[in-house]
Amino acid sequence: MKKVMAVNAGSSSLKFKLYEMPEETVICSGIAERIGHDDAIFTIKYNGEKDEQILPIKDHAVAVQILLDKLLEKKIIASYDEIKATGHRIVQGGKYFASSAVFDKDTEDKIESLIPLAPLHNAAHLVGFRAFKKVLPEVPAVAVFDTAFHQTMEAQDYVYPIPYEYTEKYDIRRYGAHGTSHQYLAQEAEKYLKDVNHPRLITCHIGSGASISAIKDGKCVATSMGLTPLGGIMMGTRTGDIDPSVMKYCCFCENKDAEEMFQIFNKKSGLLGVSGISNDSRDVIKAMNEGDERAKLAYQLLVRRIADFIGQYFVRLGGADLIVFSAGIGENSPETRELVCDAISEALGIIIDKELNNELRGKEGLISTEESKIKVAVIPTDEEIMIARDAYNMLLK
Ligand code: ADP
Repeated sequence: MKKVMAVNAGSSSLKFKLYEMPEETVICSGIAERIGHDDAIFTIKYNGEKDEQILPIKDHAVAVQILLDKLLEKKIIASYDEIKATGHRIVQGGKYFASSAVFDKDTEDKIESLIPLAPLHNAAHLVGFRAFKKVLPEVPAVAVFDTAFHQTMEAQDYVYPIPYEYTEKYDIRRYGAHGTSHQYLAQEAEKYLKDVNHPRLITCHIGSGASISAIKDGKCVATSMGLTPLGGIMMGTRTGDIDPSVMKYCCFCENKDAEEMFQIFNKKSGLLGVSGISNDSRDVIKAMNEGDERAKLAYQLLVRRIADFIGQYFVRLGGADLIVFSAGIGENSPETRELVCDAISEALGIIIDKELNNELRGKEGLISTEESKIKVAVIPTDEEIMIARDAYNMLLK
């Protein structure tokens, strides 16, 4: 039995989950939030209890130190060297990484070189990795990339129709995101596809960030997110795919530059922008059910975009055997699943059991009936276990 820490560092946060491997038992989990502030929040969940503390956390290295001290204080570990490996989520692996990589100097340099493609994310991941390295210098680490699973796409699915020299010179292409989640879902989905040769799968990771993938024989064929996580379906605050001239015209009308509008398209659009109410689907659904017209429109847009991508991928795969819903909205919102399935049922012959669908919140199961031409399942995603597995398999096995 070996303890492995899965880490997801953001610009002002650090999420962690400590596993006993290879049993995959979660020992504890938690998050340091508002890093850089005097009133940062450190939360750890252990043995069914939640311990939350407000305290100054200057930087990520301090957060890691607090985490390790907590593990000792709660007797979760007797000494630091019980932690045998760490695994770090990295959003952008660019063209370099088609699978996870041991965190050596070369990996670090490549992740650093990709910062322009994911400025907020990759920079923060490196800060998180270096913080662990500072406090646990001897503990080996792996980098697990959100983009790696999508590297099996063919050029026709990832090249943008811009001047080709831009594609070549600047590596501008569709990289996708949430790859670790889509890969997890594809693996978990195998149990529903045992009698199918060459299974075709459409995985819908619908949370505040959202993406849809087309998967054949366990490999990603197409995915909705693009060069950055702004592309694809509409999201909580992001536009998803739109005509690029909308960007230019909004800049002109609002007298803003491309950077300002890019921020607005990332942070003030999507469900929030259209509804004017919230980026949280719960608030938007509530307002919609109370008769708010803009909330209704916002939700219709979201459902339409999801349905359109499912249709597109049905064609891309030459059919589909299973559609999977996952992440915050996909796992917990039967309303959204029902609306999406209603939008595609006539074309694709999908029939869901509405009672079964209503019962499934945050739990796994099929929601389609025997008569449905395509199975539909809810599968809660687990990106952290994928990180812990790679760390264990690559470093400790
Ligand atoms: P991310 O990891 O991208 O931040 P999550 O996958 O955690 O996002 O999803 C968060 C979103 O899930 C919330 O913004 C909320 O809209 C949605 N969500 C969570 N629970 C429910 C629910 N019971 N009903 C509808 N939406 C929900």
